Amino acid sequence: MSILAGKHICIAGAGIGGTCLAVALEKACKDSSISPLPKIELFERDASSSARQGVGYSFNLRDHQDTGSGGLKVLKDLELGIFEELAQCQEPGNTMHLCLQNFKQPLIQVARAPGEDPRAQELMRISRSQLRQTLLYRVTSGIHWGKVCTSAVPAAKPGGHVQLGFSDGSAVNCDLLVVADGTRSKLRACLLPRETNSYAGICMLMGRTEQLKELPPELLKGQYLAMGQRGVALFMCSVEKTTAMWSLSWKAPESTSAELNAIFQDPSAAQEYLTHEVQELAKGFPEPLPSLLHATKATSMVSYPCMDKLPHPNHDNGVVYLGDAWHPMSPFSGSGANMALVDAWELAQQLVTGRHTCIQEAIDAYATHAAPRARGEQDLWWSAWRK
Ligand SMILES: Cc1cc2nc3c(=O)[nH]c(=O)nc-3n(C[C@H](O)[C@H](O)[C@H](O)COP(=O)(O)OP(=O)(O)OC[C@H]3O[C@@H](n4cnc5c(N)ncnc54)[C@H](O)[C@@H]3O)c2cc1C
Repeated sequence: MSILAGKHICIAGAGIGGTCLAVALEKACKDSSISPLPKIELFERDASSSARQGVGYSFNLRDHQDTGSGGLKVLKDLELGIFEELAQCQEPGNTMHLCLQNFKQPLIQVARAPGEDPRAQELMRISRSQLRQTLLYRVTSGIHWGKVCTSAVPAAKPGGHVQLGFSDGSAVNCDLLVVADGTRSKLRACLLPRETNSYAGICMLMGRTEQLKELPPELLKGQYLAMGQRGVALFMCSVEKTTAMWSLSWKAPESTSAELNAIFQDPSAAQEYLTHEVQELAKGFPEPLPSLLHATKATSMVSYPCMDKLPHPNHDNGVVYLGDAWHPMSPFSGSGANMALVDAWELAQQLVTGRHTCIQEAIDAYATHAAPRARGEQDLWWSAWRK
């Protein structure tokens, strides 16, 4: 009999990793004819699936076998038509342009030639919300929206019940709690308060335009990464084909992002900041940036402190971590979503394979394999930076 038969699994956070886990687990359980099927429930703080429509960014998914951060490979391996559906919505252009201040003459262009076999595609740029919606559409388990997970009590012994508590005072008991509540994980802070993120010293400010009649021709070719005159880096690309996002990043104290986000709570203060400070930060970058800033909705602006953290050991019975809640990666690494997808896939495989005698054994096997992979990815991107 399967270790999951009749069990209750709670997933805290219906982001990229949490939804992918629900989809992968449901499919693997059905494929393996597990009976009775486990009860899988997702708990998400967003009020609904559309709560973040029109905001957010697009990201690169990769099919890299060698680094182990191949989120695109997971979407293909799920074999639920997710890869094919996303391929229809991917952002235009397949070239990354590295520039100084001249977008017409990039210093380096990295392009991927389209192959004959669409499934051989190695890189896909897709909006986060499109990926999440596509995954959510396939979730058949219960999703509880507007539920903020605030606390957890691990099982007293392997095989015991874990308790998950919510901000509204309610609680639920389960056999397995998957902590997938992102970079600033409330559950990690509750269970392992010493496992904090470390600040990489960079503040990122991101904004998104209104719907554009047409994208600037540059953005039809792909993404642009440019270095400005005063240590400000720029990134630009399309999101959902009809809008564009830009981000400006610079060295700043850790408190800067929180201060900026507090300003952006007030729409008129956000507009003021966009009109004055952002123009100052963006000085020297030519078109299309000034036009994109002009078309930016001030309320779309959000700032991220670039955080990362190595995956921590976890000895709490019945609790397992995945994605950013376990090993947040700086957005510059372009790996966080890829790794959340790979974590979800591997955890589902370990839980459903017939090799383990109990859930605890399966989650230990997952962590033993996934932690070095996450550490390797962190080393790859940040060893040079930290020197
Ligand atoms: C600007 C930017 C660009 C990026 N570009 C890339 C890229 O090119 N490639 C790449 O691979 N990655 C990229 N990333 C990183 C990527 O977005 C994340 O690593 C990825 O989303 C992590 O997935 P996750 O499921 O762990 O967390 P998330 O997707 O953040 O999901 C966490 C979920 O938990 C919910 N939640 C949070 N707290 C609670 C709570 N207390 N109770 C209930 N629910 C809660 C959140 O609402 C969210 O839905 C980028 C990130 C940023 C900010």
